Amino acid sequence: MDNALLSMRGLNAHYNDFQALYDVDMHVAEGEVLAIIGANGAGKTTLMRSITGLLNNGAGQISYRGQDISGHRADQVASIGIAMVPEGRQLFPSLSVEENLMIGGQVGRKGPWDLAAVQKLFPILKERRNVPATALSGGQQQMVAIGRALMANPDLILFDEISLGLAPIIIKDIYDALPGIIGEGMSAMIVEQDISKALSVSSRLYCLQEGRVSLEGQSDTVERADISRAYFGIE
Ligand code: ATP
Repeated sequence: MDNALLSMRGLNAHYNDFQALYDVDMHVAEGEVLAIIGANGAGKTTLMRSITGLLNNGAGQISYRGQDISGHRADQVASIGIAMVPEGRQLFPSLSVEENLMIGGQVGRKGPWDLAAVQKLFPILKERRNVPATALSGGQQQMVAIGRALMANPDLILFDEISLGLAPIIIKDIYDALPGIIGEGMSAMIVEQDISKALSVSSRLYCLQEGRVSLEGQSDTVERADISRAYFGIE
């Protein structure tokens, strides 16, 4: 797709001898919210790590705004406007809530997201700004991870299983905040195990199965039976 914000062609990824992604072709259009679904081990995290330059060992091409970014380092990818909210949050345990947020700001991109904007979105992060990030509940830590990514003022934000291990009420809070987070113009790629949730927030989806794209569809029209087939590989 020529006018895609991000596109991947023939993307592969390996962990030593193990191949985790096979010839993945995908794109994210400008302003689009894309869902990536798939069972445990299907390659969703590997895909996000490949895009963000954390994993870089396979053939294939990744383009962003028409520029080939294959082989770029993580800091280079961040500086052109791609941020990730990683699975498991990966906060710095010895740093305070505010210090963790400020790390995202070091990318140095201009935009609407600064400390005050993040604290307005999640007021608890202002209240608890001086405590170590690990003193927060899981849901609050997830808010820090989201806030840290926003502080980089990305054009494309990747969410890796943001609801994993959180109480339903917190998941609802986080998903309720998503439209305001994504806002006008920002694009997002959401990895989510809960298929209903993935469909409800996205306009389009891809399913991965054992490292391959097994389905691409429009979130509002895709058939559940097709998803089951693509997800579990059941014919
Ligand atoms: P999950 O929902 O469990 O996070 P996923 O779809 O994100 O699953 P990945 O984490 O991308 O899947 O893993 C894809 C495959 O790569 C799995 O078979 C996994 O065991 C393997 N894998 C992931 N990380 C490593 C690693 N560091 N070393 C070796 N194999 C790995």
